Amino acid sequence: MDIEKISLWHDQYQVRGFDKRYVRLKDIDPFLKTLNDDFEFVKIGESFQGRDINKIVIGKGKIKVLLWTQMHGNESTGTRALLDLLRFFKIPEGQEELANHILNAITLYCIPILNPDGAVAYTRVNAQSIDLNRDVIAKKAKESQLLQFWLKKINPSYCFNLHDQRNIFSVAPYNRTATMSFLAPSINEERSMNEGRKQTMTVIASINKELQKFIPGQIGRYTDEFYPTATGDNFQKMGHNTILIESGHAKGDSLRRVSRKATFMALIEGLRHIASKDAADMHKAYLEIPNNEKKYLDRIYKNVVVAGERTDLGILLIEKLQKDRIILVPSIDQIMDLKDFAADEIIEADHLDFEDKNAAENWVKNRFN
Ligand SMILES: [Zn+2]
Repeated sequence: MDIEKISLWHDQYQVRGFDKRYVRLKDIDPFLKTLNDDFEFVKIGESFQGRDINKIVIGKGKIKVLLWTQMHGNESTGTRALLDLLRFFKIPEGQEELANHILNAITLYCIPILNPDGAVAYTRVNAQSIDLNRDVIAKKAKESQLLQFWLKKINPSYCFNLHDQRNIFSVAPYNRTATMSFLAPSINEERSMNEGRKQTMTVIASINKELQKFIPGQIGRYTDEFYPTATGDNFQKMGHNTILIESGHAKGDSLRRVSRKATFMALIEGLRHIASKDAADMHKAYLEIPNNEKKYLDRIYKNVVVAGERTDLGILLIEKLQKDRIILVPSIDQIMDLKDFAADEIIEADHLDFEDKNAAENWVKNRFN
């Protein structure tokens, strides 16, 4: 893949009007309605509160790929990248060869915003407070039942499970932000290797190879500890190779424009690789992607005093929905020596002296950007 060209394409043709992270069904509906007859667009069900859940199908290839976004309602970067991907297949403009290569080999089934109630409320969970990514066995949520119904019906070879990760994730050795993270989920507690996992790892390795040119040193890998109730782990176990994508932070980019573009490019490269029949096994390169660490913060106040002790304050900006807008509320995440941490902002603050932790928290809460 010529990542330079894809990057330029994205600058020029990304779907406009989606700079914000608060993305609901009604926001994406007008764009989806512009898709032409090449895209099958149908309602497949409803959420707990009766919002539509839709499926978009594109391509005519033998390899079936299922992709869903926003199973966590407040994780919208994947949805924004998916809109760009659909636009790419609609108007490839100079990328016709790549688009045709993918769509001749693959049929792509997309479920944008699997958790539309959580998207409106801007919550991780659905309207019944169920975490859909931990509901794969219990299937208590309508949305989980729907995803699994279509998983069985489509029987995809590959799945893309799109999420957003918190700003705290970093990548060694330079403590850069983990702008993108990936996981090839385990199939059991022993984290056994099988052909399917190797294929999932290979797709991620090929994505990593390309994305390193765009966000060098900002790509991490999640621990492959087996989560018995997680979606990806179970889908992988059932034989559907599942690529977990976590879009994350880039320095100074609270709207996640960088990871939106990186997610778009990751999807293009992943699909390109899956569509290429002669692709070599690259799973060992996956194991060389550094593990995620939690050593990044939005802001650090250095050398403050809390309850008579000299220490550092590590701040994360917590998103809160306020009248249809997302505001960022600073909150203390760490009170300790943070010399091993990096941050968007590091502020020398040896003049600050707080009586206790609560006093520090109250002071921090009033420090909006
Ligand atoms: Zn998530």
